[in-house]
Amino acid sequence: MARIVQKYGGTSVGDTDRIKNVARRIKAMRDQGHELVVVVSARSGVTNELIARAKAVCEFPSERELDMLLATGEQETIALTAMALNGIGVDAVSYTGAQAGIFTDKFHTKAKIKTINAKPIEKDLKLGKVVIVAGFQGINDDGQITTLGRGGSDLTAIALAAALHADKCEIYTDVDGVYTADPRVVKTARMLPEISYDEMLELASLGSKVMQTRSVEFAKKYGVIFEVRSSFNQNPGTIVKEEVAYMEKVVVRGVAVDKDQAKVIVSNVPDKPGSAAKVFRALSDSNINVDMIVQNVGQQGVATLTFTVPQTETARAVRSLEPVLAGLGGGQVAVHEQIAKLSVVGVGMKTHSGVAATLFQALADAGINIELISTSEIKISIVIDQARADEAARVAHTAFQLDKV
Ligand code: ASP
Ligand code: MG
Repeated sequence: MARIVQKYGGTSVGDTDRIKNVARRIKAMRDQGHELVVVVSARSGVTNELIARAKAVCEFPSERELDMLLATGEQETIALTAMALNGIGVDAVSYTGAQAGIFTDKFHTKAKIKTINAKPIEKDLKLGKVVIVAGFQGINDDGQITTLGRGGSDLTAIALAAALHADKCEIYTDVDGVYTADPRVVKTARMLPEISYDEMLELASLGSKVMQTRSVEFAKKYGVIFEVRSSFNQNPGTIVKEEVAYMEKVVVRGVAVDKDQAKVIVSNVPDKPGSAAKVFRALSDSNINVDMIVQNVGQQGVATLTFTVPQTETARAVRSLEPVLAGLGGGQVAVHEQIAKLSVVGVGMKTHSGVAATLFQALADAGINIELISTSEIKISIVIDQARADEAARVAHTAFQLDKV
């Protein structure tokens, strides 16, 4: 008998039939004698719909009221899942985040979990019940309902797995697991049987939106091993865990493409100490997430700074730079949105050389121009023309022999 925490995402509980399907899967596990705690998301689309409804009645809804509203999405699915289980003879009980003892800090819409009082759940598990917990929500010290940021049901599951010392944590979703590349783009992409937390984090933050990044960070911090797998079949998925030595034998684990970035070029900036500081201070004061940064060698007293930001933040970035450039006495801003960021990720890069050369050569052979480059210990990212991004992903995938087992 094992203690298992499962999480079913929005598509897995998207309608009545799917909720019944989830209930049957839970029953099959329960029939094997396992203790089960099941976290569910709102039906897919519901959270977005609720946000739209909030905006329709008030342009700037208070975050407290938003949390009050958004928490209802998960409250619907926990009750229905518990009922579906009862309907097939399984003793199950639904819990809101507060009832499950999930205490958060006070920051509405992006709260962090502080502690979990696992006693109420433990008690029901002892009584043989399946406990269904609302994902994405908690309660703060003032007794207010909070939510954990978009995609936060993953965090609920990982945090409960840690607090309950679960033997297993399974994240059920609508994909089979984590792939070497987006299988819709790269036909030869393979599902990875396992991946390290750090690789998963890089891939998650790069737009392979399998899981909420914060929840992977949490899992890493508390050493929660979890499996990402599909709720629509019985296939094993991808195990996400701490890096082990043999993982470094593979140089590149995956290729990710992010088409939601824009390139910002700030030219004719006075080439003197403090210019870059002022530019990036202004961006950071506006809470803009700057990624790749390149500065060319200054000529005739001026330099060019190029960097990437999320496309949704370009307008704000430009606005926040205008006063700075005026203050510096010069400089122009240009934005280029038709770009893509391609990254190759792998812990094997720590011990293998020539990864950059292989990538650049493969792209050169395909005639794809590289506009920006940045590297970290386990990642190389480049900016290229968005029109060639899919082709570049296939080229990189082949260059690192990811199509071969
Ligand atoms: N329902 C929430 C959202 O859509 C939480 C989740 O699905 O994990 O972001
Ligand atoms: Mg989700």
